[in-house]
Amino acid sequence: MSPTSFTPWDHIKQAIKAMIPNLEYTSWIAPLECSSVNSNQLLIKAPNMLFYQKIHDSYLPLIEKIKTELELDHYMIQFDTVNQGAEDSIEELHDLDAVPPHMASGHQLAPKTPTKAFQAESHLNPQYTFANFVKGASNQFAMSTCQAVANKPGQSYNPLFLCGSSGLGKTHLLHAVGNEVIKQNPDATVAYITSERFMNEMIYCIRFGQTLEFRQKYRNCDVLLIDDVQFISGGKKATQEEFFHTFNSLYGAKKQIVMTSDVLPQSIPDIEDRLRNRFQWGLIADIQPPSIEHRVEILIKKASVLGIKLDLDVAEYIARNKKKDIRELEGAVLRLRAFSEIDNVPITLHLAQTIFQDFFVADAPKKLTVEDIQKTVADHFKIKIADLKSKRKHAAIAHPRQVAMFLARKLTPASLPELGQKFGGKDHTTVLHNVKKIERAIVSDLDLRAVVNSLQRNLEHLY
Ligand code: ADP
Ligand code: MG
Repeated sequence: MSPTSFTPWDHIKQAIKAMIPNLEYTSWIAPLECSSVNSNQLLIKAPNMLFYQKIHDSYLPLIEKIKTELELDHYMIQFDTVNQGAEDSIEELHDLDAVPPHMASGHQLAPKTPTKAFQAESHLNPQYTFANFVKGASNQFAMSTCQAVANKPGQSYNPLFLCGSSGLGKTHLLHAVGNEVIKQNPDATVAYITSERFMNEMIYCIRFGQTLEFRQKYRNCDVLLIDDVQFISGGKKATQEEFFHTFNSLYGAKKQIVMTSDVLPQSIPDIEDRLRNRFQWGLIADIQPPSIEHRVEILIKKASVLGIKLDLDVAEYIARNKKKDIRELEGAVLRLRAFSEIDNVPITLHLAQTIFQDFFVADAPKKLTVEDIQKTVADHFKIKIADLKSKRKHAAIAHPRQVAMFLARKLTPASLPELGQKFGGKDHTTVLHNVKKIERAIVSDLDLRAVVNSLQRNLEHLY
C-alpha cells in the first residue's frame, strides 16, 4: 500500500474520530493501522494483546455500526497483534499454568494479584434488553426460553443453545438474559464473552501467569453467556479443553449457561464430541428470518429508539427489500437519518427511494427454485433427486420427499399443482397432504424441526 492511499479503514477511523473524545481517539484508535486490504477483509494491527482487548471490549460495536453506516459491511475486520506467536505457543503448553519466560517479555507485565479486569465484569450492552426486542413468530420461541432462563437461571433450560443466521438477534437476546438477571438480582455474577475472546483472554492469561484468575472468573459466575460458540472450533485444543472444564464446573454447580451459534451443535466443524455432546444437553432454540410484518415492526421500533417517527410506507419499502439481516434494517434507518439531517429534509418514501433504489436493485436476491430445494434435500438424505420425483413409498424416500415439498411450499411461490408437477406429476392434494404432515410433525418432533430449519438455513444461504 502506498503511504498516500486512503483505505476503507481510514474512513472508518475518521468517522470514529468525530464520535469519541480526542484523547480516547489518540490513545486507542489512532495507533491501529491497516496492514492489508483485500476485497472482503481489512487486517488491522493492534500494538499488543492488551490493546486488542480494549478495542474488542469498548469499540467493536461502534466500529461495526460505522462500517454499516459507510456501507462497508462487505469488509470483515480482522485484528491481529504486532506481537505474534502467542496462540501457537498454546499448543505447546500442556500445563496451562506454566508461563514460558520468552512470552512475558516485551509487554507491560500485568500485576499478579487479581486485578479489576478479573473481577466479574459483564460486558453487557444496556440497550440489548427484552423490552427493546421485537417479538414475532420467527423468534418468539427463542425469546420465551431466554426469558424463562433469565427469570430462573440454572433451573429451566440448561444449557440454552440459541441458533440462527447472522443478524437475527442472538447476541441481543444473550445480553437481554444478562441484563434481566442483573435487574432481578443485582448481586448475580454474569459473564458475557464471545468464544473468540474466551480464547484470546486465555492466551493472554497464560502469557501473564493469570490462569488461576481466568478460571476463577469463568468457573465462579452465576450465569455464563458465550456468544458465537461455533468459533471455538477455530481454536486450539487447549481452548476447547478449558471450555469443557468451565462448562462442567458451571453445569455441576447448576449455574446457567447460554450459548449462541450460527449453526446447530451437530454442524459445528472440528470440535470434540464431548463438547458437542454437552451443547446438546439442554434446549436448542432457533431463530428464523423475520416476516415482512415483523421487519416493519422492527424498523419502526429501531427508528423510535433513535427518536425518529418512521412512516409505514417508508418502513414497508425498506422491509420489502431488506430481508435477511436485522442489522441491515438498522443500517438503513441510520442511513436515512444521516441523509435527512445532512440535507435537512423530512424522511419520506421519496427520500428512501432516492437513497436506496440502486442498492436494493443490486441486492435483489436470485430466487430460490424448487430444483435447488430438491437437490439440497436429496443431498442431505443421501438419496437421488429422481427418488424424490418417484412414486416409491418407502419411508427412506417418502420422508425426504415430504420435507422437500414442505420447504418448496414455504420458500418458493410455486402453487400446489406446480409442485405436483415438479415432483414427478403428482396430484395437488398429495402435495398438500405431505406439506401438512411435516407442518404438524415439526411442532412436537424437535429433531425433525432442527433438520428442517438447518436445511432452510442452508438454502437461504445459497443466494
Ligand atoms: P446476531 O447475534 O444473531 O448476529 P444481533 O443480536 O447482533 O444478531 O442483532 C443484530 C442487530 O439487530 C442488533 O443491533 C439487534 O439489536 C437487532 N435486532 C435483532 N433482532 C431484533 C429484534 N427482534 N428486535 C429488535 N432488534 C433486533
Ligand atoms: Mg452475534
